[in-house]
Amino acid sequence: MRPYTYTAPATLEEAVRALSEAGPGTKVLAGGTTLFDLMKLDIETPPAVVDIRALPELAGIDTAGPRELTFGAGALMADVAADPLLRRDYPALAESLAKAASQQLRNMATVGGNLLQRTRCTYFRGGPPFPCNKRLPGSGCAAIGGLDRGHALLGGGDACVATYPGDWAVALIAFDAVLDVTGPRGTRTLPLAGLHVEPGERPDREHTLAWDEIVTRIRVPVTAAGRGSTYHKVRDRESYAFALASAAVAVTLGEGGAVEECRVAVGGVATRPWRCPSAEEELAGAVLDRRSARRAGAAAFAGARAGTHNAFRIELGIRTVAEALRIAGERALR
Ligand code: SF4
Repeated sequence: MRPYTYTAPATLEEAVRALSEAGPGTKVLAGGTTLFDLMKLDIETPPAVVDIRALPELAGIDTAGPRELTFGAGALMADVAADPLLRRDYPALAESLAKAASQQLRNMATVGGNLLQRTRCTYFRGGPPFPCNKRLPGSGCAAIGGLDRGHALLGGGDACVATYPGDWAVALIAFDAVLDVTGPRGTRTLPLAGLHVEPGERPDREHTLAWDEIVTRIRVPVTAAGRGSTYHKVRDRESYAFALASAAVAVTLGEGGAVEECRVAVGGVATRPWRCPSAEEELAGAVLDRRSARRAGAAAFAGARAGTHNAFRIELGIRTVAEALRIAGERALR
């Protein structure tokens, strides 16, 4: 790991000032479970790191509010996953955290930092032997035509097909979450759907935050669909593995099992957290059963583009959405 300057401010105001003074290239340190990995691999080489773990403004979890749930960006994944009200009223959100990483990592990682984790593409993390437009713009993409079993089916392009690896953001996008963001130009609200970007011609640009902005809070509007929700994650092993395909689904059902409200997002298969409006439209007003759930899954993957080794994950993804809808439907009827 290369030498870097370390600062640990005591307040948000001090942190914003420290970032501005350190200048572009400085990294914000939350749980450190991605950043330090990448620094050890020489993929991230920041000259300075600003540690925001102790900021009181980033603490707190409130899942009892009448209009919204709020999560301080510095709240630990493990603590949010264990919140009893969240587990009861929004199981998809709690499950997306509980099924991520390992207990040890969840005890370190924060819910704000989790949103900004970087891809697990092995060519990206493998360093200079491999061309990688994300790591070195213009160098090419080793994954296209290479070992792409885990790469994206949705949202990729000719420059990059790296999968967004997170679970929590996939569940949050299904619930229309918004972020509070603070920087030297003030505070703003950013819909989570506007945070991550598809690679296009600039795979090195992964999100819309400025380098000197800090996510302070995640807010989720209250919805009756929360109780009829699930985060279904399919992976090579049942613990400590990234998704081959996942689905965050929430439904409310009316008379005869007709879908009144429906939210669908998929993960592990796209270059960013991927909301699926076409799947939601497919289900609107339909009776939720095996056939309509399958149709919704197929709609979610209608635009999928497979590479060399990952075509099997289209069918897997369709079945993952269908199974998530089955689980969510059962919960909605309780
Ligand atoms: Fe790099 Fe993206 Fe290609 Fe992976 S998929 S090698 S991150 S450009």
